[in-house]
Amino acid sequence: MLSLGIESTAHTFSCAVIEKKGKQGTILSDIRKIYRPPEGEGIHPREASRHHAENSPEVLSECLKKANVKINDLDIVCYAAGPGLGPCLRIGAVVARSLASYYDIPIYPVNHALGHIELGKMLTGAKDPLVLLVSGGHTMILAFLSKKWRVFGETLDITLGQLLDQIGRYAGFASPCGPKMEELASKSKEYLPLPYVVKGNDVSFSGLLSATKRIIPKGIESTCFSLQETAFSMIGEATERALSFTGKTELLVVGGVAANKRLSDILSSICKRHNCKFFVAPKEYAGDCGSQISWVGLLESSKKMGTNLEDTFVKQSWRLDNIEVLY
Ligand code: AMP
Ligand code: MG
Repeated sequence: MLSLGIESTAHTFSCAVIEKKGKQGTILSDIRKIYRPPEGEGIHPREASRHHAENSPEVLSECLKKANVKINDLDIVCYAAGPGLGPCLRIGAVVARSLASYYDIPIYPVNHALGHIELGKMLTGAKDPLVLLVSGGHTMILAFLSKKWRVFGETLDITLGQLLDQIGRYAGFASPCGPKMEELASKSKEYLPLPYVVKGNDVSFSGLLSATKRIIPKGIESTCFSLQETAFSMIGEATERALSFTGKTELLVVGGVAANKRLSDILSSICKRHNCKFFVAPKEYAGDCGSQISWVGLLESSKKMGTNLEDTFVKQSWRLDNIEVLY
């Protein structure tokens, strides 16, 4: 079974083709173009959507060429229907609808967060993990129970990715800033005190954001080091509590921030203490990509028919914990 997945929720426009045989998927191609705002600025939704519209023909044709498939070979077309930025979501949906209607291919709207989780499971082999989803759009601790992903902890305000990106932009770097911040943090061992806020099983990063801006003049490397140590310890504490509570024996980290080595080190040492297996999405597939959408569509297609074209939708705030998982 061959699936085309289209991702366009925020900064990335991506198309990917996955072939599913039995329970396993093989990624045949995953092509991406990333919208990069000017240094110091965040994503402008209209600019990002223009970027996606302009790049979609090239990304799609490169994707099909690399996978060595023709549009007519595809069994399903899937698109990220939310959560995300409205103007960006609409580009992916329009491309998917056009292909589905012209070539008469079943269409599947996919939840982007579910994509991060399922692709992470498929690529790592995790079976029933506690999931830490840390990205530009999410900071959530989740476990699967009675057909739904249940939230065991989340951010009360901004996400971990936003925290890193906002500090990076404030310091004048180009977004997304996570990799640059990680590189700078690795050059320091000087910890500058910062507020640590864990509330029950949730975390709050907004006070940390303001306090970190104030210490930048003391040195950008020690600032990045201190920010990472504080934010990652907070999320580590919340994750450790959820591990104890749920008794899960696997932890899976997905989302763009999962690419961070220091975060993995902290979480894997927590897993050792709890005799729990540690899985992290491969760096190339941690962040937003067409594969996450393509794979969920394939899983869903084993249990349900495609959506009627007139019922296809985009939903900017489509929460993961509202979805009943059928497969
Ligand atoms: P996503 O929305 O899943 O594509 O994730 C994007 C987020 O991941 C952005 O906030 C990036 O700054 C962040 N990110 C990417 N690579 C790293 C890294 N190595 N360390 C920390 N954050 C990262
Ligand atoms: Mg994402």
